[in-house]
Amino acid sequence: MGLWAAVHAERRGIETRLVDAGQLGGGASGGLLGALMPHMPDRWSEKKQFQFDALVSLEAEIAAIEVATGLSAGYRRSGRLIPLPKPHLRKIASGHSADAEAHWKAGERRFHWHVLDRPPGDGWIDAAAGESGFVHDTLAARVAPRSLVAALGAFLRKARHVRVLQNTDILDLDPARGTASTGAGTIAFGRCILAAGYRSFPLLEKLTPGLQKPLGQAVKGQAALLAADIDPGLPTIFRDGLYVVAHEGGHVAVGSTSENSFADPFSTDEQLEVLIEAARDMVPALRDAPVIERWAGLRPKAIDRDPMVGAHPANRNLIALTGGFKVSFGLAHRLAEAAICIASDVPTEFLLPESFGISNHIAVSSR
Ligand SMILES: Cc1cc2nc3c(=O)[nH]c(=O)nc-3n(C[C@H](O)[C@H](O)[C@H](O)COP(=O)(O)OP(=O)(O)OC[C@H]3O[C@@H](n4cnc5c(N)ncnc54)[C@H](O)[C@@H]3O)c2cc1C
Repeated sequence: MGLWAAVHAERRGIETRLVDAGQLGGGASGGLLGALMPHMPDRWSEKKQFQFDALVSLEAEIAAIEVATGLSAGYRRSGRLIPLPKPHLRKIASGHSADAEAHWKAGERRFHWHVLDRPPGDGWIDAAAGESGFVHDTLAARVAPRSLVAALGAFLRKARHVRVLQNTDILDLDPARGTASTGAGTIAFGRCILAAGYRSFPLLEKLTPGLQKPLGQAVKGQAALLAADIDPGLPTIFRDGLYVVAHEGGHVAVGSTSENSFADPFSTDEQLEVLIEAARDMVPALRDAPVIERWAGLRPKAIDRDPMVGAHPANRNLIALTGGFKVSFGLAHRLAEAAICIASDVPTEFLLPESFGISNHIAVSSR
């Protein structure tokens, strides 16, 4: 999120320091999966519209970064396949087709929620996985997280208005004085956008009187990368929280666990092996595919589950940008643009859902 905020700052000519406790992209954004999954197209809301617009606009945003840097972010709108194991699920899915026709449109562009008897193409999901058919949606996409982060980092290292400061842990923030304390001294700021992933929550809590509960938590996730000779344009498979994502270069990502309690945040264990086995069962091409990496990270989940963006009510010099939880990659560029607009006192050209506001999260935490 912070990298996209710095990109928008650069484009608007705002003098910016990007401070990271480690290396850029060393947090949850440095993972393996990169699924860009739309919400269901039914019960349309301003939140779903925001996500839809973000998913559509991401394509051009990434293309601009790729052109500027000459690096690929591994982005492709390769769609999503959802197996339907029971007849009643097919009935529900068929209803969603009409919802997608009504809502998944942007100018001349249309995206679809097809319900099929068999999966499209060969060599991917086992047709037996969908006894009652398959959904094939054409809006979903994927990006290679590390490639994206590397491209954003390269853009920022060449930036005129952004200076990158790595390995600098911010220990405390004083928005009233406009200072951030680090082990190596104090950094002065006019406005501070706090995009420290799950570590944003304790920093915000210190500055927020009257809270009854934490503003957010870290939710652990584990994923794996397999090597397989597959077409990188194959759609992402999604079933009961299991994602199988075809990437470029013969890589397939499998994930993710969702763990509210854990002993070691960055280790992988049996829970990941269960997911890998489930993926091998569903996709014959993965049966003997070697695992080339296992990885774990901590997602930032805000108390009210939605992203957390906006000026802190006690001091508007501090702007929160976190809480992307399981869908950050599809929204980050838009949320970051909103944070930059707030920081520079200009209106956003799009509507930010009220439930995303930090004030909403503070109200929920204060009850
Ligand atoms: C296994 C797994 C699979 C996932 N799959 C997907 C997916 O398919 N699609 C999707 O959209 N999302 C997915 N997510 C979620 C997504 O990765 C996160 O929501 C997202 O990366 C969060 O981005 P962020 O910028 O808020 O936090 P981070 O990427 O964690 O970045 C925070 C940055 O702040 C820095 N920082 C922290 N504290 C400080 C401090 N005190 N001072 C200075 N710097 C600090 C960190 O070093 C880090 O670089 C997944 C997450 C996991 C764990």
